[in-house]
Order: sequence, then C-alpha cells, then structure tokens
Amino acid sequence: MSISEQLNKVWAQVAQAAVKAGRDPAEITVVAATKTQSSETIRSAIAAGVKVCGENRVQELTAHLEEGAYDEAEVHFIGHLQTNKVKYVVGRVALIHSVSSEKLLLAIDKQAGKLGIVQDILLEVNLAGEANKFGFTCGETPDMAALCAQLNHISLRGLMCIPPAAQHSGENLYFFQKLHQLAVDIRPKIEDNRVKFTILSMGMSGDYEDAILAGATHIRVGTALFGPRAPIPEIKN
Ligand SMILES: *Cc1c(COP(=O)(O)O)cnc(C)c1O
Repeated sequence: MSISEQLNKVWAQVAQAAVKAGRDPAEITVVAATKTQSSETIRSAIAAGVKVCGENRVQELTAHLEEGAYDEAEVHFIGHLQTNKVKYVVGRVALIHSVSSEKLLLAIDKQAGKLGIVQDILLEVNLAGEANKFGFTCGETPDMAALCAQLNHISLRGLMCIPPAAQHSGENLYFFQKLHQLAVDIRPKIEDNRVKFTILSMGMSGDYEDAILAGATHIRVGTALFGPRAPIPEIKN
C-alpha cells in the first residue's frame, strides 16, 4: 500500500475511534513518527496529507531540516533528548513531547531564553514504572508541572506517555486512562497555564484506537504509515 492509502486507513480508524468515544475526529492530530525514514519518504507523506512529523533523533531532525524535508508540515520532537543536545532542538520544533527529567526541562528553558522564545513542551510520564523507559512517575509529574509554570521560556501544553508494547487491543486502555486522569488532576494546580494545557500525546500504531477512547489529542504513528522499520540501534540522543 502507498503512504497515501495507509494514511487514509489511519484517518478512517481515527474517525471511527473518535465517534465511538463521542469525540470530534478533528480534535485528533496524527503525528507521523518518521524515525529512519528518508527526506524523500517524508516529502511523500506530507504530499499525502501528513500535517505533523515527529522525530526521534537529533541527527535525523537536523539532516531533514537541512534538506528542507518538512515543507509546510510542523515538526515535533518525540524521542529521548540529552541535555547537551537541546540547542539542536529548541526553537526548531513546534513541540517537544519527551521532556523526561528536571535537568532537561531547565536546559530547554535556558536555551529558549537565549533565543528569546517560549518553547511548547509536554512532560513524559513513565506510567508503568518501566526501568528501560524515561519519564516522570505519576507522583513527580504534578510537581514538574508546577515548576514549568514558574519558567518563563516554557509553555507546558500537556502530557505524553509510551506504555508497554500492547499485544492485543484493550491492553493499554488502563494506562491511557491513567494519563488522562493525571492531566485532569494537574490542570487546577497550574493556574495561568491552565487554558493551554490541552494535549495528551499517547497511542502508537498498535494501540492508538484505545488512546483515542481515553482522550488522546495526538497519536504518534510510524509503522501503520510507513510499514515495518529495520531494527535501529538504541537511541542515544
Ligand atoms: C517510533 C515511535 C512511535 C511510533 O511507533 P509505531 O509503533 O511504529 O507506530 C511513537 N512514539 C515514539 C516516541 C516512537 O519512538
């Protein structure tokens, strides 16, 4: 199937899940997870209707930006980010989904300050407490949200999670509902920032329908658009 056909299939399933959840499909943004894809493929995806690309690796982001691959589409950063690489990402992407430590948060604020901008971010939550994943615990997240509200060059837009890989449908619904509830609990605590705190980035190719049922506003889809990826070495941004 072509990217265009795959994208139409994803959109149809998004619409179906949205209707099932009593939601407007227009509330849901499909973020094309473009890791390992060439600039050529990214251009095809955008030509087919992709509006937002999500990059995992600083190196790929930089290369695609240099090659002008994103055209009119928005770019987000969705992968693990090391503090010493923030200068390659801050101000170059519309949203950083994967802010997973206080140190990283402060480094992003500092770099955004240098550029004189406000960087939109999400806090990544490690819902299942998995040792091999990054992110704040549910307990730490409200404190981090409160800290974001005090930083001048950060705009906290919502939360993101990567739950364990689902083997069958329904399996991750619990985690998605948990992230939704966490956002509901945090909203009253962040006063001025409240109106902008609207994004829930959750759901990938294997489980985005459940994520939509639980309130996802952004789903990050790679395989369902581009087909299976060659295995890639551990990502160390
Ligand atoms: C690769 C990736 C995705 C997409 O995964 P698929 O299962 O291929 O849809 C989503 N989010 C993040 C953070 C990723 O690294």
